[in-house]
Amino acid sequence: MSAADLTQLEFDQQHLWHPYTNVVKPGPTFVVKESEGVHITLEDGTRLIDAMSSWWCMMHGHRNPAITKAIHDQLDRLPHVMFGGLTHDPAIDLGRKLLEITPESLTRIFYCDSGSVSVEVAMKMAVQYQHAMGFEGRSQFATVRSGYHGDTWKAMSVCDPDTGMHHLFQGALSVQHFVSRPPVTIDQEWIDDPARNGLAELRQVLEGSAKKIAGFILEPVVQGTGGMYFYHPEYLNQARALCDELGILLIFDEIATGFGRTGALFATDFCTVEPDIICLGKGLTGGHISFACTMTNDLVAEGVGGGNPGIFMHGPTYMANPLACAAAKASLDLLTGQDWQGRVAAISEQMQAELAPARDLPNVADVRILGAIGVIEMKHQVSADEAHARAHEMGVFLRPFGKNIYTMPPFITSPDQLSEITAGMLRLAREL
Ligand SMILES: *Cc1c(COP(=O)(O)O)cnc(C)c1O
Repeated sequence: MSAADLTQLEFDQQHLWHPYTNVVKPGPTFVVKESEGVHITLEDGTRLIDAMSSWWCMMHGHRNPAITKAIHDQLDRLPHVMFGGLTHDPAIDLGRKLLEITPESLTRIFYCDSGSVSVEVAMKMAVQYQHAMGFEGRSQFATVRSGYHGDTWKAMSVCDPDTGMHHLFQGALSVQHFVSRPPVTIDQEWIDDPARNGLAELRQVLEGSAKKIAGFILEPVVQGTGGMYFYHPEYLNQARALCDELGILLIFDEIATGFGRTGALFATDFCTVEPDIICLGKGLTGGHISFACTMTNDLVAEGVGGGNPGIFMHGPTYMANPLACAAAKASLDLLTGQDWQGRVAAISEQMQAELAPARDLPNVADVRILGAIGVIEMKHQVSADEAHARAHEMGVFLRPFGKNIYTMPPFITSPDQLSEITAGMLRLAREL
């Protein structure tokens, strides 16, 4: 049979690669025709609530009119132009907005295409900074276990060595330094004993290899893909002091946590300190177009700029794409123009109440909620395919990962829609 005779789904299954799937043995896949608000509409007309916010991006819902209008208007004026030697209002206006809402010390913005690239950029900045400071040996990184930072080579090297792909790409990945994930959870009282709060181990690793380590990179407060784990921000305050003592840069990957998801605008806001470099992505454009950025402080920017060669060695073709900048500006204006904190708090409270019964199920290990993130952790691995098999009946699209059945609902989700999501999660927890 020639490709022309295949149905859309057949073509997809025979020719298109999907994220983390077997291309010759694809799992159940839905053809999506359109989307609006919290809903995606499938080929057969079924509407499903997107409880994943399409991988945590779509906080204002699908096809938000303010964001699509911003993209349309920009499309009619300047869809793209190279950023070398040229600049434009969308990049500048978004920059102004970012400076208004992000941690104060972060003053320099590098726009790029995706989260993984923003992590690459952050790591390159750290190495170039250390080089400029005369520490040429500092090219490695320290990180915590069960982290996730993306799928490109350097980002992959600081993902969890067990659940990440270290075994598979052994020999090809850079050697990095791993410490235990921060052991004190956000719900616990802080434990002021370095032997029990993880900081003794961190000190040991950072001190032991200080001459080789350029930066300490981690997801602040919420570890996402690596386990949906929420830890105490005091760990970060003390890590900051340790990094300062040893001349190691502190890098926060806020790609999953940024823009209100945790109940704070940035997870950094839970801390009393700020990182040297921050990565933003996912929700930056409200899920309407791929975009990310890396922001840093004057110390790093002036360090890199004052070194040899001075120029920062990175520059994507689509850097600061005007469509993406316009989408991001519209999305951030929407976010800050509403009582986002109230919305996230209401979602949080409702999830607390409605997911609580899962604690009594025999196969459930834990139920965790922070901001608009709701997690049922099972005692065993759960299959996304089996969740999909129930999606039509539930009217909810959930894609469990590892042991976690979780939701990151759009902030516009109504109480009734959220009840459908939590009911779906409870059903999966009972049946999977
Ligand atoms: C998703 C994610 C990334 C990677 O972003 P992509 O846009 O998929 O490349 C990096 N870090 C964290 C914390 C993420 O959640």
